[in-house]
Amino acid sequence: MTTTDTTRHVLISGGGIAGHALALQLVRSGIRTTVVERSDAPRPGGQAVDLRGASREVAERMGLMPGIRARLLHELGLSYVDGAGRVFGRMSMEDFDGKGAVAEIEIARGDLDEVLRDRLAAADEAAPGLLDLRYGDRITAIAQDADGVDVVFEHAPAERFDLLVGADGVHSATRRLAFGPEEEYSTYLGGYMAFFTLPTPADVEPGWFSMRFVPGATFGIRPDFDPSTSKAIITLRVDRDPALRGDRAAQEALIRRSLESAGWHAPTVLDAMPAASDFYFDELARIDVPEPANGRVVLIGDAAACGSPMSGMGTATALIGAYLLAARIAETPGDPAAAARRYASDIAPFAEAGKKLMGGGIERMVPANRFEALMSRAMTKVMLSKLARPIVKKMFAANQDELPLPVAEATHAADGAR
Ligand SMILES: Cc1cc2nc3c(=O)[nH]c(=O)nc-3n(C[C@H](O)[C@H](O)[C@H](O)COP(=O)(O)OP(=O)(O)OC[C@H]3O[C@@H](n4cnc5c(N)ncnc54)[C@H](O)[C@@H]3O)c2cc1C
Repeated sequence: MTTTDTTRHVLISGGGIAGHALALQLVRSGIRTTVVERSDAPRPGGQAVDLRGASREVAERMGLMPGIRARLLHELGLSYVDGAGRVFGRMSMEDFDGKGAVAEIEIARGDLDEVLRDRLAAADEAAPGLLDLRYGDRITAIAQDADGVDVVFEHAPAERFDLLVGADGVHSATRRLAFGPEEEYSTYLGGYMAFFTLPTPADVEPGWFSMRFVPGATFGIRPDFDPSTSKAIITLRVDRDPALRGDRAAQEALIRRSLESAGWHAPTVLDAMPAASDFYFDELARIDVPEPANGRVVLIGDAAACGSPMSGMGTATALIGAYLLAARIAETPGDPAAAARRYASDIAPFAEAGKKLMGGGIERMVPANRFEALMSRAMTKVMLSKLARPIVKKMFAANQDELPLPVAEATHAADGAR
């Protein structure tokens, strides 16, 4: 093995939360970083994501909090509505001390991504020449040896890197190329989820995330940072259909069939759907890669481990993973494979905790039929009573909140929270 005293060039496949967070920390550490994102531009969209415990600590250490605070969502809590829009249960943020379904620090996923990209632009300006952000391209083949990774791209010429990081999400191409087929690592969790932005309907209670159960689906309207818009959130309980992948017309048709007689704001949501420029739809899948480091290829974020958006922890785990991997790379100059192994052991407890489904699985979140829809309503009333509050608090807590970060703050003082 040729030993160099530094890790010279890292390739990150995927420019989502994990990819941007890692790029930010690497550039701050003076490491040349290329990000290759399949989409032609950063992908907007996504509903509120929570930052609690370790992920909040990471956001502080990365200097993201001023940007996050400027776009904080002021959610009052979660309310459950019937077909006529009447509220029959509430989980207020205060009643659950910011540890219920709605946390104290909430920001829309797309806004968090903007905060990261804003900081990345500042880091790039402070240390020009280190960052290469490429959109509309992707890796198609890789070959690694003890000294580096040769990567073939769809468009750009082939290149050699010191380390390849797969931050390319649930359907990671890096994972497929370096670890094996998706089926080995992915477990279907019984449904699909869609998110998109819509104009805020006039009679939606400001600040409340309102949700409705119907047979086979739940759908909700959640506050956005801009009060004139809201996020639609739709969860469908259906069998897996591979034909839905990448076919927006088929995805919309499925949503339409599932919500056509759902009452409340279903027509508003369905009317807004075709025009949504940030429409997101994917299967609910748990990803388990037991050992996310394989020589000079390593996985972070959803590519390595997640419990689907039902866990509510994907973004937190992605931020923590990016922070830890960058720290280990900076601390282990010239041996990115060792850095990747150290990261893999650091992230394991967070990844495990992040897969937990706080509100239960799809069977708990989406009623299968009319009877279960009625039962869900009754159960919700019971669960939201004062008596049951401690149990519900327990359900939503005990994920990553209590886990200490294995990297000391001093490790990152050098790269500064610019
Ligand atoms: C548009 C969007 C909206 C989302 N909304 C929510 C939400 O509302 N709630 C929630 O809990 N989770 C949501 N998620 C998932 C959430 O972002 C992740 O769970 C979490 O932030 C971890 O991020 P990640 O960077 O690992 O994965 P992702 O956020 O999925 O990012 C992966 C990135 O890799 C890119 N990519 C994929 N394949 C390739 C390839 N072959 N080559 C190059 N690039 C590739 C994708 O385009 C994407 O930009 C959303 C994801 C996206 C992309």
